[in-house]
Amino acid sequence: MDSYSTKQLVEQDLKYIWHPCSQMKDYEELKPIIVDHGSGVKLYDKDGKEYIDIVSSWWCNLLGHCNPAINAAVKEQIDKLEHVIFANFSHEPAIKLCEELMEMIPKGLCKFNFSDNGSAAVECSLKMAFQYQYQTGKPKKKRFMCLSDGYHGETIGALSVGTMDLYAKIYKPMLMDTIRIQAPDCYRCPYGKCRDCCQCECFEHAEKDFELYADETAAVIVEPLLQGSAGMKMYPALYLKKLRELCDRYDVLLIADEIATGFGRTGKMFAFDHAGVSPDIMCISKGLTGGYMPMAITITTQEIYDAFYADYSEGKAFMHSHTYSGNPLGCACALAVQKLFREENILENAQKRAVYLNNRLNERLGDYKHMGEIRHLGLINAMELVKDPSTKEGFDGGLRTGYSIYKKALEKGLLLRPLGDVLYFNPPLIINEEEIDKAIELCAESIEEILGK
Ligand code: PLP
Repeated sequence: MDSYSTKQLVEQDLKYIWHPCSQMKDYEELKPIIVDHGSGVKLYDKDGKEYIDIVSSWWCNLLGHCNPAINAAVKEQIDKLEHVIFANFSHEPAIKLCEELMEMIPKGLCKFNFSDNGSAAVECSLKMAFQYQYQTGKPKKKRFMCLSDGYHGETIGALSVGTMDLYAKIYKPMLMDTIRIQAPDCYRCPYGKCRDCCQCECFEHAEKDFELYADETAAVIVEPLLQGSAGMKMYPALYLKKLRELCDRYDVLLIADEIATGFGRTGKMFAFDHAGVSPDIMCISKGLTGGYMPMAITITTQEIYDAFYADYSEGKAFMHSHTYSGNPLGCACALAVQKLFREENILENAQKRAVYLNNRLNERLGDYKHMGEIRHLGLINAMELVKDPSTKEGFDGGLRTGYSIYKKALEKGLLLRPLGDVLYFNPPLIINEEEIDKAIELCAESIEEILGK
């Protein structure tokens, strides 16, 4: 393999590999980019071309590619123990990781169920909620509520509580019958309010649905503050506070999907921290290992855990497992990430650069004729491109405007994979000002070449 040219590697890739979330026919024109190595916010292809990874490789790379401290942690761990069955067996990295996480997760969460990807953590949370309700004498509570435009992964359970047709439509006959609450839509607010000055008037939809369906609902699941896959849609923390109250009033569990928002992405460690309330179950993945290893955790309360704790003969155990649960390499990465957070003021520095990034983006791109909105949360900045900002009417989806800009940006050395016509920056938290400036410049040039200024 070493002697393959880039061209040969591309040919062999297309011969064998079915890439995720892709129409493979698109690859006839836009060939796969063969990445050779990474460093910090940058990726380098086989021919030495540099790309700024402004989307953190699907929002998971947290502290830079090939971060020396995380690399060292993996190297040290791999010579000790690569993996071990996690039923009845345990290991120090997993135990220490739970201790570390206890210091930072929302209050009340204290029991950790490990899995190996975000969708698996979501499946785990749904099953846990369902079984909890059943085992605490509420067998009628077996449905789930979720927000419209939500995304929680692509396995069947996770798709059932997601509402994005792009991923779910074809599979509808296979999915659970879930209750969809109309989500906040702050950019096109039907109440004529704005994100920073509303009282979450749109929460009336949740209230109505709880009134109608809470008796049959085990849990409601949300992406807190940020509906990522829907186009980085952002909504106020007050919504979560109200949802917590409603869940308490109607005895419905609240599941926080912090897979995309966890570990400082929103400016605080977890998105729920902005609301000052705790969920009953929280799913984490992606940034947990710095984006190094497929690892996820579903974390819950003592109360939920206790509902499964009984003599074996009662059949109350949570019979849910994944082969790679608690993988020691993943735990070693996660511990290294936590150490860096503690020792290098990652969160504080990221907050400062978040202000810089948003200011610079607004200065450079704010007046572009097709810029609908630049919304931001932590270092996440989303630019919604529209046909006409005065009406907020979007482009015809068939034009694939965002995709055209993506291709242009790639030519220039910026990995700016869009969500429809929403371009976004969601960089590793360690990005510096110079890298921000360069990424903005490349983004601006790419937009100009497709849409003009
Ligand atoms: N939940 C949210 C909010 C996500 O953003 C994602 C992935 O992007 C998932 C769940 C699914 O995670 P995974 O792709 O690891 O299955």
